[in-house]
Amino acid sequence: MNEQFQQALSVIETLKRHGHEAYFVGGAVRDYLLQRPIGDIDIATSAHPQEVMSIFPKTVPVGIAHGTVIVIERGVSYEVTTFRKEGRYEDYRRPKDVTFVSSLYEDLQRRDFTMNAIAMNEHGDIIDPFGGTEALKQRIIETVGDAAERFNEDALRMMRALRFVSQLGFSLSTKTKQAIIQYGHLLQHIAVERIAVEFEKLLLGPFMSKAIDLLIETNLFCYLPELATKKKELAQLATYSIVPTHRTEAWARFAFVVHFHQKELKKWKLPNHFIRDVLICLKALEHIRSLSDWTVDTLYEYGPYIPHIERIRAAFKHDEPHVHLLLKRWEALPIRNRKELAINGNDLLTLFERKAGPWLATVIENIERAVLHRKVENEKEKLKEWAVCNQRRENNC
Ligand code: ATP
Ligand code: MG
Repeated sequence: MNEQFQQALSVIETLKRHGHEAYFVGGAVRDYLLQRPIGDIDIATSAHPQEVMSIFPKTVPVGIAHGTVIVIERGVSYEVTTFRKEGRYEDYRRPKDVTFVSSLYEDLQRRDFTMNAIAMNEHGDIIDPFGGTEALKQRIIETVGDAAERFNEDALRMMRALRFVSQLGFSLSTKTKQAIIQYGHLLQHIAVERIAVEFEKLLLGPFMSKAIDLLIETNLFCYLPELATKKKELAQLATYSIVPTHRTEAWARFAFVVHFHQKELKKWKLPNHFIRDVLICLKALEHIRSLSDWTVDTLYEYGPYIPHIERIRAAFKHDEPHVHLLLKRWEALPIRNRKELAINGNDLLTLFERKAGPWLATVIENIERAVLHRKVENEKEKLKEWAVCNQRRENNC
């Protein structure tokens, strides 16, 4: 067992000391068996939420109705969930109610894919009733039980299948793939926000191309917001192999390829501030494409976004990204934003003895360009002098 599981052992041991069963489950066990870095550790237990809360000193009741309590031990959070099976599924979405059950088996049975339905006890023994370890060996994603039935219960699982393809590079089992082809349309019943979470993970995965190819092959893309008419563009996206390092970069690259603007991004219900960031990257990509490379002006305008934009630019050009170099060029600019100007609006109002008006913005912009292009030093007195001269020149014209 690795260090993270060793640390988490105390949670399992404490639950067991109180007479309950407890196991590591889900993604952490899967990733551990794959020798990948593990994320959050989830624990499944026979203890009910109230019992979990009375046993541990530091807990957060994040989803009592679904049986989930967060236990904090030595500063680390663990999701501890009572063995459960899900109630009746309504409208192809996850159920409103859950029933607590007494066996680990039933808890594993309700999970989506065999590779996610593996448990590990405190000794590191693997409990794998659905063939998850074999699926990991074969690099296959397969539903627990009948694929058609499982996707009818919760259609989001189809998107999850493809995001795991993107993250792990695995293939879909024949039955799982067939069921996605047959039931892809059920995705229409799923909240866009939940789809976006999985889609974002798909965009960020090292095997994104494989997942996009499958989105197309299964026709699942037809049920994603604003993508039904974008088959060709999506196929184009699959040709880029550079893995994005950030969600802004991932969405901007995607949006650029499929020609999404604000309207389409809004349909994905992404937060407004995030859409704003993506739109800045899109504008920059257009801008840089028209100039064919970075310039002093584009470095200045898009400064904080340089890493995202440069990595996307390089992906399109099948080029190496020069992020470090560009950031150095950016840092070496005389100013990085307007606030760094040694003169402000008030100084100019006094200098010209005029009331504020549109002229002021123009003067500031002229000064900003002049400083940026090293026509004048960023020093108050020199800027004043330059502003006066420049104003005279303009008036003479
Ligand atoms: P990640 O490493 O990306 O977090 P994960 O496998 O842990 O991957 P989560 O979304 O955190 O994925 O879910 C934790 C576990 O809960 C899964 O491994 C799976 O067993 C189960 N699970 C999650 N979503 C579903 C679902 N829609 N249907 C059935 N089981 C699910
Ligand atoms: Mg997880």
